[in-house]
Amino acid sequence: MSGTFSAESRLIHAGTERRSGRPATPPLVPASIYVSAGEPRPGRGYGRDGNPGWEALEEALGGLEDAQAVAFASGQAASMALMLALAAGRDRIVLPADGYYGARVLADKLRPHGAVPVHADLRDLAAVARELKAAPSVLWAETPTNPLLRVADLAALAEAAAAAGAPMVVDNTTATGLLQRPLDWGAAASLYSLTKAISGHSDVIAGAVVSRDPELIGTLRAWRSSGGGIPGPFEAWLALRGLKTLPLRIARQSASALAIARHLAGHRNVRAVHYPGITPATLALAERQMPDGFGPLLSFEVDPAGTGTPQQAADLVVASARLILPATSFGGVESTWERRSRWPGETAPGGLIRLSVGVEPAADLIADIDEALGTLEVP
Ligand code: PLP
Repeated sequence: MSGTFSAESRLIHAGTERRSGRPATPPLVPASIYVSAGEPRPGRGYGRDGNPGWEALEEALGGLEDAQAVAFASGQAASMALMLALAAGRDRIVLPADGYYGARVLADKLRPHGAVPVHADLRDLAAVARELKAAPSVLWAETPTNPLLRVADLAALAEAAAAAGAPMVVDNTTATGLLQRPLDWGAAASLYSLTKAISGHSDVIAGAVVSRDPELIGTLRAWRSSGGGIPGPFEAWLALRGLKTLPLRIARQSASALAIARHLAGHRNVRAVHYPGITPATLALAERQMPDGFGPLLSFEVDPAGTGTPQQAADLVVASARLILPATSFGGVESTWERRSRWPGETAPGGLIRLSVGVEPAADLIADIDEALGTLEVP
């Protein structure tokens, strides 16, 4: 169906067999083995090598970027396979100091295998180009970053990477392939935690890599089979089920997040708000790279105003909400927030609250946020 209909239509029908009597959606197939004699059919001999549910999910995910996808047990399992696949024969992985801390932790663990992680601010193109040229590298970009929602210029980064002969990966988890298509900007691969907005219901851990390079796709499938980081059939089924409503959810979440970011920017208990849609320095770039919205994730720094340290103030606000759930992760239908610096390895400012905007009406969320921030008012 590729190329005929929109990505939204294609993902709703991905994996469906249009034959009389077949289910209208791809069924759950909990199989660890398949009937096979003689030469095994690729992917249908042993359950670590293939599952019809993965194939349906991969068709839908790949369709979002006119590419192929490989699904994994988690975003981190996908990152590990991709880092191992690309780091072979290269000396460094250049990644943002302010991006998802789990990627930095993982890259650090690759040291014994030869690739050294090097941190750079992706907004500083000269610094990135310098690091990439210093030794054979992989550029591991992320935009917007988690949790500071910084926007980097994908076309410029791809140019710098190409000039240095470095493949560029983009962790596209915060935007999803619906709002941003890194492969169009020159990335060799997009990396996804499907745990977030793509599955969207806070009930599954899964990940994927999307690429137009058949050799890389083959290498990743081989890493998945031999490394064993496979998605469970039920997880793949849940992720596909969630993905079908991503266009509806992310449109509402993006609109609400923008309204909330604007509201917070004028709030007296807030020092700074981080959201691509209200950051003047990168607004034009964000509009170019993400023309249909900026996603569900934003962050802001509370002003403690005499209520203790920024950390204590952020904890107080998070605990005071009656609607927004205190929880990590993002992209679910329910709004969640957390003081981000509570995680070891996270470099976010102490008073930074990361808010994932769900699909509740924005007015309810703003009322809840105002009430929670009101606890910082000194009587
Ligand atoms: N990339 C980003 C931007 C994330 O926020 C996360 C998880 O929070 C991951 C990757 C890792 O995904 P998972 O938790 O599914 O392993």
